[in-house]
Amino acid sequence: MAAPPNKPVSKAIARLDQDGHDLPPSPAPSSPRNGRRRYALATELVYTDSKDQYGSSSIPIYQSATFKQSSAIGGNQEYDYTRSGNPTRTHLERHLAKVMNAHRALAVGSGMGALDVITRILRPGDEVITGDDLYGGTNRLLTYLSVNQGIVVHHVDTTNVDCVRGVISKKTSMVLLETPTNPLIKIVDIPSIAKLTHAANEKALVVVDNTMLSPILSNPLDLGADIVYESGTKYLSGHHDIMAGVIGCNDPAIGDKMYFTINATGCGLTPNDSFLLLRGIKTLGIRMEKQQRNAQTIAEFLESHGFRVRYPGLKSHPQYDLHWSMASGAGAVLSFETGDPALSTRIVEAARLWGISVSFGCVNSLISMPCQMSHASIDAKTRKERQMPEDIIRLCVGIEDVNDLIDDLSQALVQAGAVTITLDGFHATATAAAQTTEKETPADPADASAL
Ligand SMILES: *Cc1c(COP(=O)(O)O)cnc(C)c1O
Repeated sequence: MAAPPNKPVSKAIARLDQDGHDLPPSPAPSSPRNGRRRYALATELVYTDSKDQYGSSSIPIYQSATFKQSSAIGGNQEYDYTRSGNPTRTHLERHLAKVMNAHRALAVGSGMGALDVITRILRPGDEVITGDDLYGGTNRLLTYLSVNQGIVVHHVDTTNVDCVRGVISKKTSMVLLETPTNPLIKIVDIPSIAKLTHAANEKALVVVDNTMLSPILSNPLDLGADIVYESGTKYLSGHHDIMAGVIGCNDPAIGDKMYFTINATGCGLTPNDSFLLLRGIKTLGIRMEKQQRNAQTIAEFLESHGFRVRYPGLKSHPQYDLHWSMASGAGAVLSFETGDPALSTRIVEAARLWGISVSFGCVNSLISMPCQMSHASIDAKTRKERQMPEDIIRLCVGIEDVNDLIDDLSQALVQAGAVTITLDGFHATATAAAQTTEKETPADPADASAL
């Protein structure tokens, strides 16, 4: 592809990657590198240029496991075997490196595959500090590492910098963060924790799971993280039709280490899925824009009816300022409480447009009860210790018409008995707010039209 033919591979030159390229040669640099300003991220997402021999506007799928060599003693080809490298995957990785503002990006088969690659940097005896409100799969992998691989894992409330300070030491090798947390939507102060971590052990790696926000809203590498990863299954691909994981970092040595693991274990993203992820990334900006706008409207709707809503787009969020100091948007995941798990179950089951599903980041809107679904692997006692409300409902907002989403949610709330309305011609009138609120929200004709 875009490789300068027969260019000798020299790792001595700082910005050359594993394949000997000064990034990002493929796709050919879309941003002007001659001193003019970089394009905005929304532009970078869609603009790719390749040196394809036919000038194809979309990068071809190189569905080939092997590539022929020019000589028996090993030629200078960029590719020989797809586990080690494939042109479609390389194109995706270089595109991601630009989008994530990373020196090196790597693409693997799933978000958990990405975390597996990252945690293989650890050695027995190493200490990891991480959150107590983590993605379930992350919890499961870290538990495996602590039981079987001699890794010491400290779960603390990473949304409180002092809790991290309390356990950090020279032995800390990795600090693994997720923000906003899910489903409690708490915010982690990445710059402060990164500073604290590097002061305790300059070799310690600050790793951020950026799945909830995606690179269009937040860039953890710019906030002091050493490694960022995310599940490409979510916002990056956007359609829930592939599994993928992506990793970004700035230190070439760490990039090489992780590439070694990918090549050694064979978890690199397939050519087909690399193609689909590239296609998904092109619409990330516009999807997120719409999903966020819908989420904001729905969060305000629920809050105005007396529910306790957790969403960083609401001024009532206790860490509103912290979130906006690190991100350019609030994302499209929110949660709210009803006061009663049985009531929440009825709401979730009564919704029709909102699919009952774990996961998020899809163009479709999804509803779930984390304590019964995505977080059920955390036992009830631990959930209680971590103050996870059993009645919490998570909404992952899609790109549908927001009035349809609100209508469907309203009907589910009414059907479940969470709100009371009377029908008055074509308009519904709210007569009561959520049962859980102490103060009754008076009927508001403006709200009623939404119901
Ligand atoms: C989904 C998810 C993952 C895991 O990604 P997969 O692609 O499902 O393996 C990791 N972290 C977060 C926050 C997620 O939502």
